[in-house]
Amino acid sequence: MMNRLPVQRCQYCGCEDIGLSWQHGETLVTFKRHGLLDNRLRYLICRRCGAVLYQRVAEPHKFPPVG
Ligand SMILES: [Zn+2]
Repeated sequence: MMNRLPVQRCQYCGCEDIGLSWQHGETLVTFKRHGLLDNRLRYLICRRCGAVLYQRVAEPHKFPPVG
């Protein structure tokens, strides 16, 4: 599903050892206007310095537009 990583190397330390992480459980991104919809967050993390390089939700189309 994520064949092409949006980040190829750490912009902070230059390391190319990138890890993929899902955030589960308690810390869901939720919005309550239409009941409980939640999305898991997906992270790309530099495995050398620990910087979070990229994050996105699993189903962005569920979020209401700002305008
Ligand atoms: Zn790094």
